[in-house]
Amino acid sequence: MAKRPDILVIGGASVDRLRADGQPLVTPGGGALYTAMAAHKAGANVRFFGFRPDPLPDLFAQAAAVVDWVGPPCRLEDIPHFEIVYDARGDARLERASWGNEATLDPLQVPDNILDVDYIHIAAIHDASLQMRFVAALRKRSRARISAGTFGYMVHRSPDSVRALAEACDLFFLNSFEAITIYGDADPPVRPGQILVVTRGADGADVWQGDCRQRVACAPAKPVDLTGAGDSVCGGTLAGLVAGMHPVHAVRLGAAVAAETIEAPGMSQLLATDRAQIDARWRPMEDRRVQVDPEQLQAIADLLAQMPEVKPFDFTGPSFPEVGDPGTLDFLFASIKHQFGFWSPAHGAYGKPTVANIDGRLCKGSDYCFAAFHRALRTNPQRLTPLGQSSLRWSDTLDLFRSDEGDVPMPVLANHHSLSRGYGRDLWELGSTPQSLVHAAQKSARPVKEMLQSLDHISGYREDPLRKKSMLLVLALGQRPERFIDLGQGEDCQPIIDYHLMRSCLRTGLIRVVDERLEQLLAERRLLAPADEYCVRISAYEAIDRLQKMSGRSIGAIDWFFFGARRRCPEMTEPQCGECPLEPVCARRKHLFQPVIRTTFY
Ligand code: SF4
Repeated sequence: MAKRPDILVIGGASVDRLRADGQPLVTPGGGALYTAMAAHKAGANVRFFGFRPDPLPDLFAQAAAVVDWVGPPCRLEDIPHFEIVYDARGDARLERASWGNEATLDPLQVPDNILDVDYIHIAAIHDASLQMRFVAALRKRSRARISAGTFGYMVHRSPDSVRALAEACDLFFLNSFEAITIYGDADPPVRPGQILVVTRGADGADVWQGDCRQRVACAPAKPVDLTGAGDSVCGGTLAGLVAGMHPVHAVRLGAAVAAETIEAPGMSQLLATDRAQIDARWRPMEDRRVQVDPEQLQAIADLLAQMPEVKPFDFTGPSFPEVGDPGTLDFLFASIKHQFGFWSPAHGAYGKPTVANIDGRLCKGSDYCFAAFHRALRTNPQRLTPLGQSSLRWSDTLDLFRSDEGDVPMPVLANHHSLSRGYGRDLWELGSTPQSLVHAAQKSARPVKEMLQSLDHISGYREDPLRKKSMLLVLALGQRPERFIDLGQGEDCQPIIDYHLMRSCLRTGLIRVVDERLEQLLAERRLLAPADEYCVRISAYEAIDRLQKMSGRSIGAIDWFFFGARRRCPEMTEPQCGECPLEPVCARRKHLFQPVIRTTFY
């Protein structure tokens, strides 16, 4: 049986005649076909709806063999034809254009039986009002998320229509020139739940998740022809999202596809490439100053595989609600987003961890945070609901985190306050609650993926492309005795990379720093630049991902085992190697320390 398509791309294909100094090249073209091909090459199962020449010429045979091209039949001369001329510098000029029958594409032509997909992408066809008719009609007929793109001429002709189109979609793509035409110098108004991608050529792309913006670098390439670059970002991004990637990583995948596309004229390289080549584009985007050590990985995986004490935590105990407490979901969702920043700096370096008394117990960072929310659950449970979080005043946040002595030990309290309010606002705007998100995950065939992608739209969880807090919440939901969601075989679970885990990876030798300057900064516990921190964190992510697969232990078990490093291999005192189960295989790089950086990710 044919696999269900993930993505339906609606729009047109064209015949593009390219002329540089030599022979003209005739190539398949059209924004929709580029998007469909890019999504296919990035791993998605794609259907393409648009006028289909009958008989189909050889020009389109390769594309039609891999994307399921359906749509009203037409003559070849009725689809758009473009003649593009390149000058000596490689800049393209549209010499001649015949737009064909594109403007007559109509939502009524789209049959119902092709609308059961994750995403419907409406490419830039004719004008924004036609795209808007598709959005309005297909919203009523499909549960798919709706995506669209635009192009310069359309934006110049009718910026307000394009702006309205962007607001009507769940996902929208445009470039930086188009963004300036529509929004001027102001930030684009991206509502909760919406993703906006602004491509910036050699400067990469901005990814907006609601009002949260992150920059993605472009993949290295030697451009020959920029035709189809934006559509390739779009297709690759859609493929990444249907695979379950965080939006930032999905756009990075799209950028890697675009790098392939632009290194040859027309669609030739996009047609020729495959996922391995696209991934090879992606990898150089990673900074390799820190690398996974395969021998250490094997030794530690073999050890963990035999250790009965490597097992998941059930998120119960004095800092957690009683099993069956009706406020447990509000507690977990509200508190886990605050699992970050439990340390103070001193003179440009790490100073000390956060430790304080609460409820008569001396608690360290993470435990203190859980204990504070547990106290709030007992005394004022309404404060932990989305509405309660959205309406917290500064004085409420002070009260929530106050220690037994009356002070507030959280080093970055303002971040906690604004994330609480943003979390409540986003859930409120989306009409969601922790209970409804859990219910949606329970109904899904892939509960972990469903939950992670829901959290990508909620302040406090959406920001981290490696999803540390989101995955911690998923584990809590799956490992609590109530079993709020089914973790399945863990196929959608991701490593949880916080500072304890990075310290363990560095000290045990799971990852190796091959840059002397960076090693010194880590050893001296200096505040790091984001790029320095990221190369440690992404290598730790890769190491734990491989460790999990090689050891056969679950992400939950591995995470809890390494979380124990806060005691046996701590920040402020000498590691207790004699008592450490990793001692037989550990590289004992005790001088190394986790990256020191201010972030709300961990
Ligand atoms: S306590 Fe010692 S043996 Fe254990 S991880 Fe730390 S450095 Fe390695």
